[in-house]
Amino acid sequence: MMQEYIIGLSILVGLGLFFAVILAVASVKLKVFEDPRIDAVEDMLPHANCGACGQPGCRAFAELVIKGEVKPGKCTVSSPEAIEQIAGFLGIDAGAEERIIARLRCAGGKAEAHHLAEYHGTLSTCRGEAVVNGGPKACSWGCLGLGDCMDVCEFDAIHMNEDGLPVVTPDRCVACGDCVEICPKGLFELIPESQHLYVQCKSELEGDLALNRCSVACTACGKCVADASPGLVEIDHHVARVKTDLRHLEAREAIRRCPTNAIVWLEGPQFASPSRNRPAFGQIEPIRMEEDLENHYWQ
Ligand code: SF4
Ligand code: SF4
Repeated sequence: MMQEYIIGLSILVGLGLFFAVILAVASVKLKVFEDPRIDAVEDMLPHANCGACGQPGCRAFAELVIKGEVKPGKCTVSSPEAIEQIAGFLGIDAGAEERIIARLRCAGGKAEAHHLAEYHGTLSTCRGEAVVNGGPKACSWGCLGLGDCMDVCEFDAIHMNEDGLPVVTPDRCVACGDCVEICPKGLFELIPESQHLYVQCKSELEGDLALNRCSVACTACGKCVADASPGLVEIDHHVARVKTDLRHLEAREAIRRCPTNAIVWLEGPQFASPSRNRPAFGQIEPIRMEEDLENHYWQ
């Protein structure tokens, strides 16, 4: 009996030793070298894992920085001091990136845009309202104003103003793109902070059809196109658009004759200064449905 016990124990010990040796050899032979600087750079990053740099997280970004495939400055969440610290640690250029921020292609808040209906569903979110016939707003491109974008922003960079529009605080925005993704109307876009000329409208209706729904809609009149440097502003699907790659041609002249103030000159947050065309609260003109019917919009 004792002998059987000793044999069994010996087999177990032998197997244990055998596999321990195999694992020890494998760990040496198959070891993947990881640059210790990756940990160091990751520690200097903000650990936000926000994706603003285009990578799935801070570690993936640190690996690319170490490989020399991106510059530290691509992380727009880090402070300039942190970027310089990383660049100094690696002995590379910081590669200052242009700041990108989220801008809203709509200025039609409660005071400017008409509602055709009221939503009484249980989902009081923009996405909930949008599934019911696109939402209650007369302009089907317009902001629904329930703040899904504000709720999703982890950087506290969006607040809803009294007009029911989301206002982005440029200094807090890290261009992570979460608001772009969540907005059911696709109203946010990420553009360089240095771009001042901006069309705050996405409506693809023209002239009175657009104006009938929102007092600050772009009517596609083309005045800004004529007043801006050639090629800077174009009309695309009945709405003016500023070409970001030509922003070095920007001048305030382009906004001077806009009849609705759809095109604005931005320095800082949107909607910070009162629009020329914004009626006081409660003074919005009733929607002229007959005119729409004449234009066969509803048929
Ligand atoms: S921008 Fe989009 S998500 Fe934000 S309040 Fe307006 S509709 Fe809702
Ligand atoms: S001037 Fe104003 S309304 Fe006319 S196309 Fe330009 S942005 Fe639109």
